Amino acid sequence: MNKLKHLNTKLPKCMIAGSLVVALSTGPVFGTGIAMAAKPTIQNDSLLEADAAVHQLARYQVDARLDEKKMTIHGTETVTYRNNTKDTLDNIVFHTFADANRSKETQSGMFENSNERMAKENPDKKPEDFLGGIDINNVKSLGQPLKFDNSNQALKVALGQALQPGQSITLELEFDVKIPYGSQRLSHYKNIINGAHWFPVLSVYNPADHTWDKTPYSTTFESDYYDSADYQVTMNVPADYQISMPGTLTVQDAEAGRKMVTATANNTREFVFFTSPDFKVESVTRDGLTIQYYYFDNQKDKKQIIDQYIDQAFKVINFFSEKYGKYPYPEFRIVESYVEGIAVEFSRMIQMGMIEGQPDISNHSAFVHEIAHQWFHSLIGNNSEKESFLDEGFADFSMVYFYEKQGNPLNGFKVIQFDEVSLDSPLDATNDKVGDSPDAIFYKKGRQAIYELYRTLGEEKFDELMQTYFDQYVYKNATIEGLLQVVENKAGKKIRDEWEADLRQPNYSLKSEYRLTADEEAAYMYEQFKSIYHSVFVQFPEVPSETMSRIIDKTLQGEPLTIILSDRLTSDKATKQQDQLLNQFQGFFQIAGIKPTIITERQVLKNKLKKELGDSNIIVIGKPDANGFVQALKSGIIKRADTVGFKWQEIMKKSNQSGAYIIKHPYNQNRLMLHYFWTGDHLSDQTADPFMAKALESLNFSNHFYQYYVLNNAGKSSIEQKIENPYAKLFAE
Ligand SMILES: [Zn+2]
Repeated sequence: MNKLKHLNTKLPKCMIAGSLVVALSTGPVFGTGIAMAAKPTIQNDSLLEADAAVHQLARYQVDARLDEKKMTIHGTETVTYRNNTKDTLDNIVFHTFADANRSKETQSGMFENSNERMAKENPDKKPEDFLGGIDINNVKSLGQPLKFDNSNQALKVALGQALQPGQSITLELEFDVKIPYGSQRLSHYKNIINGAHWFPVLSVYNPADHTWDKTPYSTTFESDYYDSADYQVTMNVPADYQISMPGTLTVQDAEAGRKMVTATANNTREFVFFTSPDFKVESVTRDGLTIQYYYFDNQKDKKQIIDQYIDQAFKVINFFSEKYGKYPYPEFRIVESYVEGIAVEFSRMIQMGMIEGQPDISNHSAFVHEIAHQWFHSLIGNNSEKESFLDEGFADFSMVYFYEKQGNPLNGFKVIQFDEVSLDSPLDATNDKVGDSPDAIFYKKGRQAIYELYRTLGEEKFDELMQTYFDQYVYKNATIEGLLQVVENKAGKKIRDEWEADLRQPNYSLKSEYRLTADEEAAYMYEQFKSIYHSVFVQFPEVPSETMSRIIDKTLQGEPLTIILSDRLTSDKATKQQDQLLNQFQGFFQIAGIKPTIITERQVLKNKLKKELGDSNIIVIGKPDANGFVQALKSGIIKRADTVGFKWQEIMKKSNQSGAYIIKHPYNQNRLMLHYFWTGDHLSDQTADPFMAKALESLNFSNHFYQYYVLNNAGKSSIEQKIENPYAKLFAE
């Protein structure tokens, strides 16, 4: 998963800017699974069956019907499970994560903001509409009812008879699911149904403590921990719906207006679906791999954008296939949905948010991160409740590794070499332990520790080690201990011990020789800001020239910036306020690597007015008649202000007004002039703080595109003109 985070600087790690397969998916190992399950060999008169094929994986056959009006699913499920443990089992446990939706408290906190917004937008929706759950109607084996208990997202089935090691059992379950409204892994919103966690799946048995995993789904992060299995799932949906599922899809007619879509997905970590009547499907096949993008055709040139994403997906898959181990499935699917600031990985599929404007695809890092999860989550599984480092750390490192090898200077290894503070939680922590900072620990620190291993070993040896790790754990669940064993075998005990300390001890930080120097860090930050600001304006080309944050973009692109202070302020208070505003800007400029020229004296201003200042973007501060620049160019300013609709004379005439406006430079239409003004002697006590806050906000790339705003004497915005920035909501506090 990838979540857009608020950082102190509000600089995001990544700007989430960001044909049916005919061949049967064999996976590399097993064939047609389900036919075997349908005709079990019955051993004596017992419930149990010997598995003649010695099939190691569980097999699911699910038949389900989506009621898109009531937003329910009715399903039957046949599961054949072989006891691969050394223990005799008298019960089997399934996860029923759909039940996380029984109450708001058990639902994921990750979607809370989205749901609050959706609730506000749809006042007819009641709190209970945002809830759901799964009812288990019955569980049988060979037609005989079995006792079961479904509570706290765990379905415990008593087998009635012991299941010996090596024996198999086939269970039949019948269930009804209510799909919650809003944003959840299982949810419906507008014209889409997101279908993760919708039927009971076997939990993982822990041989060490002889128990099944009964952990309910994480409310803070994610806990998708499964054994790979063979799936054959048939969904009955309206005939005009497109449905994305993993594996090979075949379509048959069903009753009037309906169809049945069957997915065969063997050796697969998990099974999800996404369906919508409005999905378009774009499909490209290269070298036996078909990539499909399920998307909404809701803007001009969308198909071209989708094709570029598919192209990028091929690049990414090929890179990891070469580095780690071949992507084994014949298809990969990408689904567009309404998730905000989040993207989610599933086996053979990823869920992305809505494409907005013209995205910067090559720098859309979340897209690369999610694809990397095909190796670290889907192919190599792990317990993402207990050892999230294994999937998130490696997915994030792999994303950076890809960019580095693409020669992308902004998203390559420098991202990792830029070391933030150390954190007291170790990398091998559980989700519970890291609380609300999984991003900082598992992703940022995680990828750093992996980078350290990469530097320690060198690229060739590191790749070799990763291939061994892949070969050993593909379709299985890895552990940190297992990974360390691979490190020991490939690189020796000393390197293992050092690296183990990195993972298991608190306060990990990257070895200083692998970090950026202070100068490199400053240069890196400048490049980051430059890229982010620019990508915002490239993505939204319709945003007018006269936009406050654009002055930062232009400066970062290399145009000069001059700040002209008022030299005729009439009180100490006004001077202090001007200094405060300047300091505030300077703090931000320093982080971003912007070095403006500052003019404080009238004589300097006069000397530069005709030449240098005609070529510079200008920030002017203060009362109009106290600032030499405004005085000198007043008539030009008024004219330019008029074109953006800012009634300059009218506003400047009033007392106790403050605010800002941006216009084209009175001399030079390719430059901007931004004026932070007040009309009284100084800002009133109620206005000063809001004025300072708003000034900084007006320059931020993640805020709305301001053209002008005026604050009244209480510090409230009385007039403003801005263009909505679709990303602003992602950064809202
Ligand atoms: Zn992730």
